[in-house]
Amino acid sequence: MDIKISKTTTPKQKPDQNNLGFGKIFTDHMFMMNYTEGIGWHDARIEPFHDITLSPACVVFHYGQVMFEGLKAYRGEDGKTRLFRPIMNARRTNSSNKRLCIPELPEEMFVEAVKAIVKVDEDWIPTAPGTSLYIRPFIIATDAFLGVAPSKTYLFCIILSPSGAYYASGLKPVGIWIEDDYVRAVRGGMGFAKTGGNYACSLAAQVKAHDDGYSQVLWLDGVERKYIEEVGAMNIMFKINGKIVTPMLNGSILPGITRDSVLQLCRHWNIPVEERKISVYELLEAQEKGTLEEVFGTGTAAVISPVGKLRYKDEVMTIGDGSIGPVSQKLYDTVTGIQWGKIKDEFGWTVIVE
Ligand SMILES: *Cc1c(COP(=O)(O)O)cnc(C)c1O
Repeated sequence: MDIKISKTTTPKQKPDQNNLGFGKIFTDHMFMMNYTEGIGWHDARIEPFHDITLSPACVVFHYGQVMFEGLKAYRGEDGKTRLFRPIMNARRTNSSNKRLCIPELPEEMFVEAVKAIVKVDEDWIPTAPGTSLYIRPFIIATDAFLGVAPSKTYLFCIILSPSGAYYASGLKPVGIWIEDDYVRAVRGGMGFAKTGGNYACSLAAQVKAHDDGYSQVLWLDGVERKYIEEVGAMNIMFKINGKIVTPMLNGSILPGITRDSVLQLCRHWNIPVEERKISVYELLEAQEKGTLEEVFGTGTAAVISPVGKLRYKDEVMTIGDGSIGPVSQKLYDTVTGIQWGKIKDEFGWTVIVE
């Protein structure tokens, strides 16, 4: 792929690494590439970060034909920049694209584009412990046409945002609200795709949960509202009686790359793993019997997010003693150790940006 690079002549000042937060600060450059029916993907370029101008009639504004991805670049103590399993993001891009009638983006093109933009803004990768550079690739439908039909033109962009240490004060367990009214996705819908609509429809429940002092929503299945699905932007895992149990991928759950990595690690350590249906009543019962040992979310942003409290209707389950469980901690240390190049990458998960 031929990428035309135009660098900024007015680089921004780098932010304070101890106060980055998430998703508010953007680097000096962005990657862009267009798609036109009959031509394919063309005009790959890296330009100074800038606003984009689009017709107000664009398909994306009205019918939400859009997809996104999320991954990170990590700067190791050895000075090397690592990506974590970017090929998995490339594959998931195409699985989202297929569902949304967005044309396929060749996997190697996706990875090459990510590497190129990260290389150009490499000095934006923060180095303070726990910090990273968040990478947000996305594709929007750009035809100026109000008919409901797949667009014939698209824009693929990648923007970068330096991201703070997720856990400023250690891995603190969060409270999770099991939503019993709204649903996120149904089988046959687009729950497995990373697409805007899935997040727009999650906001009302999130507001409700926040108002009640819970930080995230745990979704139940869209039909019976009984089986556990996932958290807003994380998959969910339970340690019940020594086994790691997580909902199986059923089409309405997002297939997380962290989820996959954690399951591989558990199997490697001979911890029994079950991917299956889990009803909310099974959780309540396990809690009652004292066998609900650990609960944690998995996702790129936090890697492992321990859950200390689960609310379902009038029941509040308190998990563990308010600190992180041993398996959750070991998973966090191992995955982040591999990402920052501190632990040998036995699985060949990391890709060095050169
Ligand atoms: C992105 C996302 C995840 C986690 O996926 P990772 O690849 O592990 O970051 C889980 N659930 C939803 C709804 C997501 O959007």
